[in-house]
Amino acid sequence: MTEAKSLRLAGRIGQIQPSPTMAVMAEAMRLKAEGVDVVDFSAGQPDFPTPENIKLSGEKAIADNFTRYTPNAGMPELRQAVADRYREDYGLDFDSSNVIITSGGKHALLNLMLSLIDPGDEVVIPTPYWGTFAEQVRLAGGEPVFVATSEDDGFRMTAEVIAPAITARTRILLLNFPANPTGAVIGDEEIRALGDLIVDRGALFLWDDTYARLMFEPAPAAAFQYVQQKLGERFVIAGTASKAYAMTGWRIGWAMGSEAIIKACGSLQSQMTSNASSISQKAALTAVKADQAPLAEMIAEYRWRASRLRESLLEIPNLRCGMPGGGFYLFPNVSHYLRPGETTTELASELLDDVRVAVVPGTAFGCDGHLRVSFACSRELIEEGARRVKRFFAARANS
Ligand code: GLU
Repeated sequence: MTEAKSLRLAGRIGQIQPSPTMAVMAEAMRLKAEGVDVVDFSAGQPDFPTPENIKLSGEKAIADNFTRYTPNAGMPELRQAVADRYREDYGLDFDSSNVIITSGGKHALLNLMLSLIDPGDEVVIPTPYWGTFAEQVRLAGGEPVFVATSEDDGFRMTAEVIAPAITARTRILLLNFPANPTGAVIGDEEIRALGDLIVDRGALFLWDDTYARLMFEPAPAAAFQYVQQKLGERFVIAGTASKAYAMTGWRIGWAMGSEAIIKACGSLQSQMTSNASSISQKAALTAVKADQAPLAEMIAEYRWRASRLRESLLEIPNLRCGMPGGGFYLFPNVSHYLRPGETTTELASELLDDVRVAVVPGTAFGCDGHLRVSFACSRELIEEGARRVKRFFAARANS
């Protein structure tokens, strides 16, 4: 008998890690399915159901047999509606030809990364950062360049912090605004300064606006208009219907940029996934076109939860925690409680084992010492989760 040869996987697979946020979420879901009473503070997704009008459009799409391919780049009406939404919300100048509809926000980002990055290109990513950014840059053959922001400064990505990282190889400056996991936001002047920083460098400005429609204060629209005017076709956006419209499972996102960039994304997409789900596109069309007023209620609720949970966590001695500018994450500093040599990966796993609270460790975001705590869950769960977390840290302090 010949000995079986070990299976060889492509080298690029060895260069990336599976999504740690998805992994923690999956573990929490697995435990819940087994009947374990887990408080899930890990989920990067709204607990609100998809609004009725959006769901109905999906149902209607099925009933109407709208179940075939759409154009590869998305339904023309949806591409137009997304462009219109950005004009209305932020005064940005995009047309339907500047939009491609993708299977979620991650797919939009990957389309952009693969269309824009050549081997050796650098992408400047402020830390703490959502892991997918770096992994996608690596998949595209580029090099993530991490720039640490400071907790004392609210993790703000300012031109002063970023400037030393800009080199002749900088291809993209990434602004995740508000940021996952910190909820950090920056002001009008600071966004303009970031645009100014790269205007003569030939680099692109990529705004991941996943959480922008869930900001607690209005987004500084004029600053983004300024960046678009300054950088022209070097200003690109990756967005999603997932968070603002509570549509994570529908998998709809969009990339926006110059016609040439969107065409490039289209070529790629035509060879990878083709169009995003036709049914989901119909639902997303309703989401972006409908009255956006219900968003305000969701935002108010998230804001309430953010301050309530933060207040509770701050009762834990020696824990620090800022208030996010939007989204649904807190990023408390728990480094006081780490044992020698321990990381938050171990701490988070003990938190899950001991008191059944799921959070994502800071190590997943290139920032140990912190935990990402999602408050995209009911008020009852926030109260219960906070009680358990306090019990856990009280026990640690005494151990
Ligand atoms: N973006 C969400 C999060 O950070 C969903 C999980 C993921 O896509 O990584 O939790």
